[in-house]
Amino acid sequence: MKETREPLQPRDTFSFSCHAGLSCFTSCCRDVNILLSPYDIIRMKRRLGLSSTEFLARFTKTLVAPKTAFLAVQLKMDEESGRRCYFVGSGGCSIYEDRPWSCRMYPLDVDGDCGQYRLIVDRSRCHGLDVREGTNLAQWFRDQGLGPYTAESERFAAVTGDDNLTAWRVSHPQGAHIFHLACYDLDRFRELVFREALYDMIEAGGINLDELRGDDLALLAFAYAWLRALAVGI
Ligand code: SF4
Ligand code: SF4
Repeated sequence: MKETREPLQPRDTFSFSCHAGLSCFTSCCRDVNILLSPYDIIRMKRRLGLSSTEFLARFTKTLVAPKTAFLAVQLKMDEESGRRCYFVGSGGCSIYEDRPWSCRMYPLDVDGDCGQYRLIVDRSRCHGLDVREGTNLAQWFRDQGLGPYTAESERFAAVTGDDNLTAWRVSHPQGAHIFHLACYDLDRFRELVFREALYDMIEAGGINLDELRGDDLALLAFAYAWLRALAVGI
């Protein structure tokens, strides 16, 4: 079984079982940097019954990279409780079924440069690694419900990796703000889409207005297409 921080290969196994009763239980939900994707935010705001605007204002802060004007949306920790996550309680994560990607992955992470997965803590900190049952990456992805997160992160990566869009975001005075609105604050973006008929700005084929009204994922796909169209000067 793999216990080191070397990249995991598909055939490698590692041990893990997290449960109440472990002395480390919920310790990893404190003072942690969790970046949220647009899909994470859709899942969490729906779970909490909040609009994206309310969710972002209450639970996130936004960091902007000066060179690329790229935004990272980070989950805020609760300063008044010693930087615990707002969603952790004595029974664990209160939004477990809709917890973000990073929390599903822990104690694994992916190396952004090579795309390989590896353990990021050891047994001394994460006692869930100190069990006999083995799992592997494929099983891990199934157990943690990572399928839709992976599919959505691939769509988002195509947007964040778009050079035209990066150049537009850097050069446009409101670029970072518009990117944040369209990708993360979907409920406010929806109001703008219908108030300004933004769907008329890109090819009408395939756009279903009822879906844009009621389906956050359809609206997110439209947001990506609209941003990319803006970047090439529609
Ligand atoms: S969202 Fe849930 S799993 Fe993630 S840090 Fe907060 S309490 Fe822990
Ligand atoms: S440190 Fe590991 S075993 Fe402990 S609560 Fe976090 S994920 Fe579970």
